[in-house]
Amino acid sequence: HASHPDLPMTFSRRRTRPVVVGNVTIGGEHPVVVQSMINEDTLDVAGSVRAIQRLHRIGCEIVRVTVPSLAHAHALADIRQKLQQQYLDVPLVADVHHNGMKIALEVAKHVHKVRINPGLYVFEKPKDNRTEYTQAEFDEIAAKIQATLAPLVISLREQGKAMRIGVNHGSLSERMLFTYGDTPEGMVESALEFIRICESLDFRNIVISLKASRVSVMLAANRLMVKRMDELGMNYPLHLGVTEAGDGEYGRIKSTTGIGTLLAEGIGDTIRVSLTEAPEKEIPVCYSILQALGLRRTMVEYVACPSCGRTLFNLEEVLHKVRSATSHLTGLNIAVMGCIVNGPGEMADADYGYVGKTPGSISLYRGKAEIKRVPEQEGVAELIKLIKSDGRWVEPQ
Ligand code: SF4
Repeated sequence: HASHPDLPMTFSRRRTRPVVVGNVTIGGEHPVVVQSMINEDTLDVAGSVRAIQRLHRIGCEIVRVTVPSLAHAHALADIRQKLQQQYLDVPLVADVHHNGMKIALEVAKHVHKVRINPGLYVFEKPKDNRTEYTQAEFDEIAAKIQATLAPLVISLREQGKAMRIGVNHGSLSERMLFTYGDTPEGMVESALEFIRICESLDFRNIVISLKASRVSVMLAANRLMVKRMDELGMNYPLHLGVTEAGDGEYGRIKSTTGIGTLLAEGIGDTIRVSLTEAPEKEIPVCYSILQALGLRRTMVEYVACPSCGRTLFNLEEVLHKVRSATSHLTGLNIAVMGCIVNGPGEMADADYGYVGKTPGSISLYRGKAEIKRVPEQEGVAELIKLIKSDGRWVEPQ
């Protein structure tokens, strides 16, 4: 999965500080990182190792695992060891679901990044059923959170590891809910409180996420976070995702709408598409979003017309044939157009074009130049020949 940062960009990315997670860096000048999460029980060491391998093989650059208990944290030592025996050095992130520090401190020894959820650091409610905290109560709890979190922050700092402060709209702490409401402001303040704790301990290897299942909330929270960080002189990288996006076409569209919109504004350094499907299904969606925006190039870019009354061949079938013959040629732009009326002009900046010429014949283009006209049945074979003669062909693996 090579990336080509020299692709023409129509927008610039927000400058963030690089955060090292094992052998991957999030932020800075680095390409947007693709990640996902296995859904195996972490106690199933062999199953988890296989799931991590499967994801890594198809381009998942950071893999997250869930760590709900101390036993799970210990299991990660075995998982890490088994991966190392196979020379698989994929960065692992532990999702710690409790504010109990024992689990986090144990797992921090075996992974490269620990994800915590500020919403789970809940302490006592205000007395007398009040629905607001006095400033003194608010500060007292903040101090308790600081004391609870400090050992983990120090441990990560000493080991050169990273932390994700992962805020979820659906699990804001009561203190944030009462004080700021169920709002993007509440999400941002929740993240900022944890960032300040980290900074007070001189720890800045931090990635922030503000996820929501509603795209509008996710967009607003991330934009506000960027604004607040700019005001405060902070430049932590952002991890983007739409939670509980569901499955199928709508799940993909919902994720893309949220993640793609922010990326197009230059916001976002790592992404996860959360589908109610096998995690392997999430990775191609991530790469497609990045390719569509010109942020990474891991596939052939196909341009194809939607077909219309002028179309001179079965466009769907031909596109399918062209794609199966050429999809391994990462870096090429190939256009398949139904006719010469609009085809050549609308092929954008395609390297090669396959354009309907007359019923039964097609024309092959190199860039904007028509190279040769061939019978339709020989179209795909001739296209391959042309690519070969230009020295741009590689054999599929
Ligand atoms: Fe129709 Fe030709 Fe345009 Fe394709 S390129 S949509 S066939 S006019």
